[in-house]
Amino acid sequence: AKQDGRNSFRFFAQEMQEHSLRSLQLSAALKDALINDQFHLVYQPQLNLTDNTIVGAEALLRWDHPEWGAISPAEFIPLAEQNGLIVKIGEWVLQQVARQQKQWLSKDLPEIIVAINISALQFHQQNLVERISKIVEEAGVSPDNIEIELTEAVALKDPEVAGKTIDALSQQGFKVSIDDFGTGYSSMSYLKRFAVHKLKIDQSFIKDIVTDIDDQAIVTAIIQMAHSLHKTTIAEGVETQEQIEFLKLKGCEEIQGYWYSRPLVTEQFEAFLLASNSK
Ligand code: C2E
Ligand code: CA
Ligand code: CA
Ligand code: CA
Repeated sequence: AKQDGRNSFRFFAQEMQEHSLRSLQLSAALKDALINDQFHLVYQPQLNLTDNTIVGAEALLRWDHPEWGAISPAEFIPLAEQNGLIVKIGEWVLQQVARQQKQWLSKDLPEIIVAINISALQFHQQNLVERISKIVEEAGVSPDNIEIELTEAVALKDPEVAGKTIDALSQQGFKVSIDDFGTGYSSMSYLKRFAVHKLKIDQSFIKDIVTDIDDQAIVTAIIQMAHSLHKTTIAEGVETQEQIEFLKLKGCEEIQGYWYSRPLVTEQFEAFLLASNSK
């Protein structure tokens, strides 16, 4: 047994070393990813359950490295957050989305809201609101069609400052939603005070919602609370018709997930938009 323990420790240490080596390599490679045009966005459609129309999409970042292939944002976003590059990357994402919106409008595609993810570091920049307002203005689109997604953790890190920023964003016309809702552990009293439009119910609660009565209770409570506070709800990670039936019954307004569509590259997304508009 002792031998085993020592061996598994050795493997563990080796794994750690490989892990951190890869992290270092990825972190260094991220520095060139923007200039070398290795990023692109995919768009995941969001469905309105009351009238079965597409209401919006979430822009999700993809990194294709010439040697290593596709690297998951779950792996590289935390690294970009650590080395500070997430601020530049986040601004690039917004710029792409704003330009894309402009193009869709000029092509006469249906008007939709596109949500982007803002990381902690970017959100806590001194002049965030001015910076992002400028990017959107330069692209020639209105903030009305842009939604800012903040995780609960980001919003709650410094509630006083976050509240002011959220209100300022909302004042500018941006929509603001709380991502991964339900996974934070702090008090929810901030919801009453912040100009937040939408709660995105975390996919961990949706996964087993058809069978797990605890998840059912949590999701039901979130939807009821959101409605009492005049906010809408969107469920993430919806994969089955049964999940939709439950969510509809409870009054959840919108869904996002593989059931409706996977994240799509621009051309596919445009086709999707046109098809859902003519239904
Ligand atoms: P997130 O913001 O919670 O995004 C939702 C994730 O769930 C996406 O993973 C999406 O592809 C996935 N998903 C959507 N529908 C389903 C479904 O039905 N089932 C399952 N199992 N998964 C589904 P993705 O694209 O790998 O992104 C992972 C995370 O990386 C995101 O989680 C977000 O935190 C971060 N991320 C992605 N793009 C950006 C970005 O541009 N900026 C920042 N700061 N973070 C980003
Ligand atoms: Ca998100
Ligand atoms: Ca989420
Ligand atoms: Ca349970």
